[in-house]
Amino acid sequence: MLSELNVLYVEDDVEIAEEVLFLLEKKLHHVDMTYDGQEGLQKYKAQKPDIIITDIQMPKLSGLDMIAAIKEDDESVPIIITSAFNETDKLLRAIELKVDAYLTKPIDMHELLHKIDKLTRSKFLEQEVNELQYIRAKQSALKYQKLLELSAKMSEMLFWEFDAETTSFAFNDLSYHFLGTSIEKEKSYTMPFMHYVNTFVAAQDRQTVINVLNEALHQSMDYVTTFEYRLEKANGKVIEVSCTAYITYNKARKLDKAYGTVLNIEKIRAKQRETERSLALIDQYISYYSMDLDGNITTLSSAFSELIGYDKKELIGKNQSILMDKKIQESFYEDLWKTVSEDKVFIAEVKSRKKDTSLLWLQLKILPLYDDNNVKNGYMVIEQDITNKKIIEELSITDSLTKLYNRRYFISIFPKELSRAKRENITIAFVMLDVDNFKLYNDTYGHPAGDVALSKIATVLKEFANRGSDTAFRMGGEEFSLILQFEHKEQLQQHLQRLIESVENLRIPHANNKASKYITISAGVVCILKDNRLSHEELYKVADELLYKAKSNGRNQYILTCSQTC
Ligand code: GH3
Ligand code: MG
Ligand code: MG
Repeated sequence: MLSELNVLYVEDDVEIAEEVLFLLEKKLHHVDMTYDGQEGLQKYKAQKPDIIITDIQMPKLSGLDMIAAIKEDDESVPIIITSAFNETDKLLRAIELKVDAYLTKPIDMHELLHKIDKLTRSKFLEQEVNELQYIRAKQSALKYQKLLELSAKMSEMLFWEFDAETTSFAFNDLSYHFLGTSIEKEKSYTMPFMHYVNTFVAAQDRQTVINVLNEALHQSMDYVTTFEYRLEKANGKVIEVSCTAYITYNKARKLDKAYGTVLNIEKIRAKQRETERSLALIDQYISYYSMDLDGNITTLSSAFSELIGYDKKELIGKNQSILMDKKIQESFYEDLWKTVSEDKVFIAEVKSRKKDTSLLWLQLKILPLYDDNNVKNGYMVIEQDITNKKIIEELSITDSLTKLYNRRYFISIFPKELSRAKRENITIAFVMLDVDNFKLYNDTYGHPAGDVALSKIATVLKEFANRGSDTAFRMGGEEFSLILQFEHKEQLQQHLQRLIESVENLRIPHANNKASKYITISAGVVCILKDNRLSHEELYKVADELLYKAKSNGRNQYILTCSQTC
């Protein structure tokens, strides 16, 4: 540390001066020597030494006066005075002048060097700290510059400034990277506005950019505008950019300056186009509509509009119920609202009608929709046309002659109806029916007439099972069955009696029928009460046995069995 110091030493005693100088020069970087205060002051001003060592008694200007002048200039410069023992009065003034240390003569060199070291150490430390801070600040500035460069490169953004007075366009140097050129090539950070337009704006968009400037020339208040154009880079590559400009006006309300950015939006636009293409495909091929929480239709796809036969504008704002078949039961809606209110997807097959009233079977998937704050604000209904599937399904469960459900459907539905009755706590009856002496009818009137008779009987059965809770089946040949819901035994008995009579009242002549001169039927009926424990096979068997009994009892009648509480 001492070896780096510059010292000013003022001493009029040549003998002492030379001895001290000799020793100081060995240890210190540079020692300036002078023999009186006046010269000492001049040297101080010229050299600005790190420390001053001075005698007190000197010709021309005394050491103390020199110190006073120096301290006036810079209070922080350390000063050591060397004095003789008899100069104590002078020392008091030295203390007032804030002299940093004093030594008595003869000078102890070891002590002097120690004092020099002590007094200058803090100064060096301060310098070091300053230097360190400077280096750190510089490193940090470099780091941020690098980050800025990197982010500008990554986000592909150009920063610009436009000056209306000179119509020049200025960039920061990073922008040249964006344009694919360099400051050297363009020779400056600025270029005339039209040079920028003609060099870097794609030909077909130049007018767009010029129009923005023309618009700005006609305004008078600061504003921000964003517009898009295609930018042609120096390598010929064309990219889509979005330019945001902050346009400012001077006191005279004339266009002054504009500042802004030009951002590469190629990837955003490519993504947007891809999304638009996907949405167009979805609109074209996926049938869907969305509705608000009250069921009012808010949007619908072209595919759905085409499927249902309504124009989009005919449906938007209307309630979705206009699309549903009027016969859809309340239980369907109950299930629907329960499922969607639990934020689950509701899936169902529903009968619907096109605008031209033709039948349309739809499979619906109803899912909840949410706004940006995750609050449910409606539902999306995705439909699939399952009419054909339903027709095939219906055909497979329908008897072709009578159009009643067939045996296959009976087998699948009977166990389900039994469980439903139990679940919903209702009583049902299972009725097995058979046409009386039908072989003889065929023998007498022919098979085709037999078919006509079976169809007529089926029509009667349909009438007697026309409630949503009842179903009629043709089990095969001239055998039929019914599942009927009833409240009490008398009601069921009246119903069955009327049924038996209604068939006879068709008055289809049957000369060889032993029970009547018309076609008649017999029935075996089993009431299935709430506490029923019989399986569907057992119930079937019971009904069949009762039917057999009805036959042997003389036909054209029903026989019913059920528990005492029925
Ligand atoms: P019962 O009163 O004991 O029932 O006597 P039935 O003659 O009706 O009983 P049987 O089982 O001996 O005869 C049933 C007849 O039903 C035989 C068959 O010719 C006739 N049949 C079955 N299916 C059809 C059909 O699809 N069309 C016509 N026309 N006749 C059918
Ligand atoms: Mg039979
Ligand atoms: Mg028969």
